[in-house]
Amino acid sequence: MRLLLVEDDPDLSRQMKTVLEGDGYAVDVSADGEDGHFLGETESYDAIVLDLGLPIMDGISVLTKWRQAEISTPVLILTARDGWSEKVAGLDAGADDYVTKPFKTEEVLARVRALIRRAAGQASPELNCGLVTLNTNTSKVSVDGMPVRLTAQEYKLLAYLMHHPEKIISRTELTEHIYDQDFDRDSNTIEVFVTRVRKKLGVNIINTVRGLGYQLVNASEQNSK
Ligand code: CA
Repeated sequence: MRLLLVEDDPDLSRQMKTVLEGDGYAVDVSADGEDGHFLGETESYDAIVLDLGLPIMDGISVLTKWRQAEISTPVLILTARDGWSEKVAGLDAGADDYVTKPFKTEEVLARVRALIRRAAGQASPELNCGLVTLNTNTSKVSVDGMPVRLTAQEYKLLAYLMHHPEKIISRTELTEHIYDQDFDRDSNTIEVFVTRVRKKLGVNIINTVRGLGYQLVNASEQNSK
């Protein structure tokens, strides 16, 4: 899962990037509205955290432009204390949720998780496929109740696939959603990651769809085999 964080306070931005990366996300950061708007419109994100008070272009304008351009990525806005009118304006402009400053980073994490889950049509924080369980709250993976240790990149890959169980996902799409923009991306490494994840899980829930990408093995299909 990959996030965009648009926040002009350098300390807060750095702190949030660290916390979000610690929770298993690839994170791109932007410090002004114009740059943030550009990234949100041209890159693929699973959710966006957007401060409203931004230089060059304010957050409400950024959000309004994204929604006009039919960018439907879930957006969590950061609003000032006592700024009830800001919250209303933000939600009306197409924000999905808000957090009021000052906030505990845990609250941002929980809200981001919920947004991503809902956008993927998943109601429960625990995702299942066959014997494999992925808990999005704890970032833990288990097979038949036994914990499996994945690296950060392996977890991101499995989490993206498990959030989109019906879909065939190309290597390019996976690449876009598990690396931040500074990463030297190579879609060939995806195959290596998939092989490693399959090996660590010990059960194959990731099908290769020749020429197209990957798809989770349907749970019921798997049980009937
Ligand atoms: Ca600000």
